Amino acid sequence: MRVAVIGGGVAGLSAAHELLRRGADPVVFEAAARAGGKVGSRSERGWLTEDGPHFLARPLDALLDTAGLRGEVVRPQGPMTRWVHHRGRALRAPSLRLLLRAGAPRALLEPLFARPLREDMSLRDFLVARLGQKAGGLAGALMAAGVYAGDPAQLSARDAFPSLAESGSLLGALFRRRPGIWSLQRGLGSLPTALAASLGDRLRLGAPATQLEPSWTVNGERFDAAVLALPAPAAAALARSFAPSLAESLEQFRAAPVALVHLGFAHGALPRGFGLIDADGALHALGALLPSSMLPGRAPQGKVLATAVCGGALHPERTALPDTQLAEAVLGDLRRLLGLRRDPEYLRVVRHPAAIPQYAPGHRDRLQAARALSAGFPRLELAGASYDGVSVPDVAKSGASAAARLVERIS
Ligand SMILES: Cc1cc2nc3c(=O)[nH]c(=O)nc-3n(C[C@H](O)[C@H](O)[C@H](O)COP(=O)(O)OP(=O)(O)OC[C@H]3O[C@@H](n4cnc5c(N)ncnc54)[C@H](O)[C@@H]3O)c2cc1C
Repeated sequence: MRVAVIGGGVAGLSAAHELLRRGADPVVFEAAARAGGKVGSRSERGWLTEDGPHFLARPLDALLDTAGLRGEVVRPQGPMTRWVHHRGRALRAPSLRLLLRAGAPRALLEPLFARPLREDMSLRDFLVARLGQKAGGLAGALMAAGVYAGDPAQLSARDAFPSLAESGSLLGALFRRRPGIWSLQRGLGSLPTALAASLGDRLRLGAPATQLEPSWTVNGERFDAAVLALPAPAAAALARSFAPSLAESLEQFRAAPVALVHLGFAHGALPRGFGLIDADGALHALGALLPSSMLPGRAPQGKVLATAVCGGALHPERTALPDTQLAEAVLGDLRRLLGLRRDPEYLRVVRHPAAIPQYAPGHRDRLQAARALSAGFPRLELAGASYDGVSVPDVAKSGASAAARLVERIS
């Protein structure tokens, strides 16, 4: 069975490998010059920087085995201090001062207010109802910024954070121990690079799908089935000619833009720790990580790398600032809050106009409607971050599940 996989991000690569494992014959069409989509790493002059994710929070063992990278997993070392920017100050989290400012006494009464989430609502409304205005507002801002670069008033509590909405006590869920975060020695981009290499000429780079017709031709070439492992608006563009209602439904899945600003400094320019996150939306960046403080090989010997995340749903216009202006704005924040004393020796800006999907209230219902429309095309599957989770492990699962459904349905 020849299957066209359109999109060579992690969802598409994972779909292609699952198709191979099940005896099918995939061909991946990738528009860009490299595979991996949002996941990529660049190594230059001793600086190792990421295009997108820096750490993954859940295991991905099967895909790491396929890529032969299990031995390259690295976990953060050293102090994991997190600073929260709240009302003009960088406070250590958790600290008594932050907890008091955050309305901890009301938040501790949360079990009295805990109710199962029946109707979907915004993350902000959900957290405020549970934890009170202050703590709920703060928790919402941190969670929305930290995971989605999003706006807590516009994200779905039920679908953007399913584990929180399901849990009886929110405080319990927030303080539950989670499995450790991890990365890869040569950067997370080495995962798609290895997955792509093992596909050989089944992967076509610089090969955008511009035409898709049932059932199925891609750019005029015949296939038995197709997986659209694309951001929903790109899938909509391909579906418009043969399924206008499906296209219209896919256009409703939105994403927020993000610019990553990587800045390299001399030794000692910044404190060691995990990084800073902005709870107020008052900084130029949503937050900043200190990758070289936690991981080996991120900066030349003795130097320091900081990575700021700018833009997101609340400040999309910032991603359009010229590189130097963006860098100056971030440097100002770092000088004021983390005592930065040096000028940068290295600058790299990575822009994603549609970086992270924003699951708005009602996401699950919109998804069901889109899936019902695509069910009219049994040899077509949708996969990727727009639908069932934005994390890399989620999109890997989404790609593999789409491939499995296709093979089961057709054979
Ligand atoms: C800045 C940033 C930070 C993130 N941080 C984290 C994190 O810490 N942890 C985490 O788990 N996740 C994180 N994510 C999210 C995660 O990286 C993405 O959700 C995930 O990688 C998306 O994978 P995907 O395959 O669904 O889509 P994409 O990576 O977008 O891949 C889609 C591919 O389709 C290609 N394409 C588009 N149109 C066409 C066409 N017509 N024909 C052929 N190809 C086409 C694109 O070029 C692209 O390669 C982050 C994302 C960003 C941007």
